[in-house]
Amino acid sequence: MIIGIDLGTTFSAAAYMTSDGPRLIPNALSETLTPSVVGFDTDDAMFVGRAAKELAVLQPDRCASVFKRYMGSTWKVRLGKREFTAEELSSLILRSLKEDAEAHLDTIVDRAVITVPAYFNDNQRKATIRAGQLAGLTVERIINEPTAAAIAYGLHESGDEKVIAVFDLGGGTFDVSIVDLFDGAVEVRASSGEAFLGGEDFTQTLAARVLESRGFVFERAELETPALVARVMQQCEAAKRLLSRQDAARVRIPNRDGQYVDPVDEVQISRDEFTKWTEHILARVELPIRRAIGDAKLNRTDITEVILVGGATRMPTVVQRVTEIFQKEPRSRLNPDEVVALGAAVQAGLVTRNSSLDDLVVTDVSPFTLGVEISKQIGTEYRGGYFLPIISRNTTIPVSRVQRLSTLHANQTQLRVGVYQGEARRTQDNLLLDDFVVQGIPRGPAGQEIDIRFTYDLNGVLEVEATVVETKRKVSVVITKHAKGVSPAEIERAVAAMEALKTHPREETANRFLIKRAERMYQELSVFHRDHLAELLDGFETVLDLQDREAIDRYRSEMEIFLSQFESQEPAGDDDDVASE
Ligand code: ADP
Ligand code: MG
Repeated sequence: MIIGIDLGTTFSAAAYMTSDGPRLIPNALSETLTPSVVGFDTDDAMFVGRAAKELAVLQPDRCASVFKRYMGSTWKVRLGKREFTAEELSSLILRSLKEDAEAHLDTIVDRAVITVPAYFNDNQRKATIRAGQLAGLTVERIINEPTAAAIAYGLHESGDEKVIAVFDLGGGTFDVSIVDLFDGAVEVRASSGEAFLGGEDFTQTLAARVLESRGFVFERAELETPALVARVMQQCEAAKRLLSRQDAARVRIPNRDGQYVDPVDEVQISRDEFTKWTEHILARVELPIRRAIGDAKLNRTDITEVILVGGATRMPTVVQRVTEIFQKEPRSRLNPDEVVALGAAVQAGLVTRNSSLDDLVVTDVSPFTLGVEISKQIGTEYRGGYFLPIISRNTTIPVSRVQRLSTLHANQTQLRVGVYQGEARRTQDNLLLDDFVVQGIPRGPAGQEIDIRFTYDLNGVLEVEATVVETKRKVSVVITKHAKGVSPAEIERAVAAMEALKTHPREETANRFLIKRAERMYQELSVFHRDHLAELLDGFETVLDLQDREAIDRYRSEMEIFLSQFESQEPAGDDDDVASE
């Protein structure tokens, strides 16, 4: 069985294809969005998703989040007994989604289509494929998130050609893509974005303002009173979501140790204030939009429709800004934080040629310019370090291009080829993907010719081939910075190491989450309420140990009722439907 996965920076989701179209897969807590958070308790038990998010408020150093930003890098974090790369942490999220899918669909799920931001480079795409492997999934395709969103909408479209702008403001990244839809075909014409712009910036700005009103400076408070900041952030996240549907919200401020002591201090925030405070963040979407439209060689007026993607587009101020920029009301028939997973499921259906899909065609573009380093003749001397583009940004993929180079010196028998990605004129300002040496160039005068062929496949994986024209001698390399030289045995070992990490049985997930949530609340309550909650918690843990079904259910509902008195709003997972078109 194959599923589609949106492996998000802050939230992930999975979906599968049915004869009636794509459907979301609920997790063990019956929610469609799973927070991309991993944590290890003091007894080294692993938590993924919402329970980990609760744990993160209590023990931030035992949890990792927003690690998608480090995909494909050497970044590591220590959690409990071992260190993890972003790829490994992502694999734990994927494994959790896979298990939820298996429970929901009652079948083995071993293949997936996974989405990545359009701006992900080659290393990051490969790290995503590896994360899938580590989770026991064969990754059939990697597709861009905006492409997936367009597919989710495109499936239902027919008739006239449309030019669509996909506006994706998620938790930590912003992407905008210009997509063509015609006769069931989806073609991405251009993509642009920012790797550090998302809903979390809105939460953080709100938290900074709230802290400021009480005489704190955010950056300093983060170091000096981390418990206070963790709680204010959590409260501001809830307040931000409330402000998407009402005019005002309150944020409760704990003391410096993160405790709520009666009488609890509160800050009231109006939607207008929030809008004003975050205007400068929202302003940053303009430039990438202009760039994407320019790259697509279009004008704003050529855009026939705008699609909203990403949970942060639930904010009315975002919808308003998008409407102003494009001079048109964006579409929001599908939930913005689910649409990418739905599109991935459609793509998964395509992989297995689901009959309901007939002949939907999907094409994509290269997100960066790719090329090699060369020397240029400037006056009478040669200067190195110049970038020669071979595949330009926003070229439709798959694509293969050849560029002929020649040797600079007489009797030069070898040539170093540096492969770079980026938009700068000099290679030092671009990213070095790999380099290799072409040997065996026949001796002779300068000007021996070498053909460099770049092939960029559908997953955005680059292959480079150099051919000495005279001898037809070939050197070819797949640019796999991180996956390089990994043998099947090594992969197997890595998979086994990840599998060895202890997880709770799935049916326990809801109970574990409840305990974590209660433990977090415990610290926030006044002493009087604490005693009562402690009793409930002790009782709950006892009946869990005894496996007394009936008593477990009784304690559970009692705890839930108790906790809901103190929590005006659930901290994650907003499953209300967006206004229909
Ligand atoms: P990603 O794909 O980047 O993981 P999502 O698309 O799920 O993330 O968006 C997550 C972001 O959306 C978070 O910053 C979250 O706070 C924000 N978000 C979700 N629902 C709402 C809402 N109702 N109002 C405002 N922001 C929201
Ligand atoms: Mg997303």
